[in-house]
Amino acid sequence: MTTNKLVGAHVSTSGGVFNAPLNAKAIGATAFAMFTKNQRQWKAAAYTDETIERFKTNLAANGYTPDVVLPHDGYLINLGNPDPEKRKRSLDAFIDEMTRCQQLGLTMLNMHPGSHLREISEDECLTLIAECINQTLEVTKGVTVALENTAGQGSNMGYRFEHLATIIDRVDDKSRMGVVIDTCHSYSAGYDLGTPEACDKTFKAFDDIVGMKYLCGMHINDSKVPFESRKDRHHSIGQGTIPMVAFEYIMNDPRFDNMPLILETIDDTIWPKEIKLLHSLQTK
Ligand SMILES: [Zn+2]
Ligand SMILES: [Zn+2]
Repeated sequence: MTTNKLVGAHVSTSGGVFNAPLNAKAIGATAFAMFTKNQRQWKAAAYTDETIERFKTNLAANGYTPDVVLPHDGYLINLGNPDPEKRKRSLDAFIDEMTRCQQLGLTMLNMHPGSHLREISEDECLTLIAECINQTLEVTKGVTVALENTAGQGSNMGYRFEHLATIIDRVDDKSRMGVVIDTCHSYSAGYDLGTPEACDKTFKAFDDIVGMKYLCGMHINDSKVPFESRKDRHHSIGQGTIPMVAFEYIMNDPRFDNMPLILETIDDTIWPKEIKLLHSLQTK
């Protein structure tokens, strides 16, 4: 095997963030994702020194380095919110999450770019998002913002690679910008992954428009909805509409080595099987 694939899932932090590495280990993961706080609430108590130490201890004791962890930001945050007060609330929450990542010694925070809520243009929305990221990077250290491509549901931005490129273009410190590609979102947004040739084309488009050097992780999800449906409905690997050849392609391509490949699939009881299934696709 010449490729080095780090496969895991978005694991639970129930009981405390320090449980995430244990939950990842239990499913045979070599990378993992987690929320840094309750993803459905604006505020959470600050980490205690003990929590931070326990997280770092559990991480190392289970064989994980900080760069294989891909934390995900909360669902309430919208850095593209046209309302200045609401956007400020999102910015504060985002800075808090970046700070939590920094405290845990982690290197990235995966985020959904934001939504224009049909009140402003897409381009104005991208500018607001970039401004918020600039402000965040000024007051935090060592953590990269990892923009995720989206399915384009509702008024969510990020469904075209051009959106991600534009945000990066408008951010001052590009050394702290990254991108996470979600297979389900790509397929729903109209980036085909149905054949090796389609995968070649999709990732060439990504490289041309954004640049492969920005890719810092992948979300490996099947989809419940057809190609180009613009809906975000994840499914277990092999049970949805995305042909298995897409996952085979990713698992054998060295461009996706040494970065977290994260399942966000719907049935967590089969994550160990899905991780094994993905590794079984590796022929290189
Ligand atoms: Zn995702
Ligand atoms: Zn999704």
